[in-house]
Amino acid sequence: MTSELKLRERIVEIGSSLYRRGLSPGSSGNISARLEEGWLLTPTNSCLGELDPASLSKLDWNGNLVAGPKPSKEYFLHLAMYQKRPQSGAIVHLHSSYAAAISCVEGLNPASCIPPITPYFVMRVGKLPLIPYFRPGDKALALEIAKHSEKHSAVLLANHGPVVSGNDLDSAMYAIEELEETSKLMLLLDGQKIRILNPSQIQELRETFGAEWDS
Ligand SMILES: [Zn+2]
Repeated sequence: MTSELKLRERIVEIGSSLYRRGLSPGSSGNISARLEEGWLLTPTNSCLGELDPASLSKLDWNGNLVAGPKPSKEYFLHLAMYQKRPQSGAIVHLHSSYAAAISCVEGLNPASCIPPITPYFVMRVGKLPLIPYFRPGDKALALEIAKHSEKHSAVLLANHGPVVSGNDLDSAMYAIEELEETSKLMLLLDGQKIRILNPSQIQELRETFGAEWDS
C-alpha cells in the first residue's frame, strides 16, 4: 500500500490540478484516500488549489476525526461509499459545472442518468445512478449513496454534483474527469438525436476491458 505521506502529497497535487482547470471553484469539492487504518480527507472550507499535505483531516471508520483540521462537512458521502466498496482506495466529489448542470435536468433516468454514448464513459464511470436531492449536511443522503455503492463506483447527486470512487487517487480523478466531459457532450448534444452504444457493443466492452455496466 502507498505510504501515507505519498497519499497526502498526491491529494494536494490532484486538488491543485482540478482547481487550476476550473473543476472545483471556491471551496467546493473534496478528495479522500483510504489508509491502512482510517482515511484522509480534505478539510472543511478548504480550497482544493491551496491544500497542504500536513493539514489534511484523518478520520476513522466511524467518521471521527483522529488528527488534523476539521474535515469537510461532506465527509459522510465518502464514508458511505467506502463502507460499501472495500476495493475503492480513493473518492473525489466535485461541483463541476457540466456534471452539476446534468444533475439539475428534469426527467433523468434515476437508474442510469447518462446514457452509454462513448466507450470511455462505459469503461471509466459505468452506469450512473441519480441520488435524490437532500439539503447540504442531511445524513439521509449517506443511506441513499450506500444503497447504490456496492454495484456502482460513481453516483450523481441531484442538483449538486458527482461522487466518484477509484482503486486509487489517479483512477478516481480520471473517472470524474471522464464524467465531466461526458456531461459536457450530453449538453452539447441537447436536442440532437443521439446514437447510443447498443447492448452488444457494451457486452464487448465488458468482455474486453471488464467494464462494469450491468444489462
Ligand atoms: Zn458537494
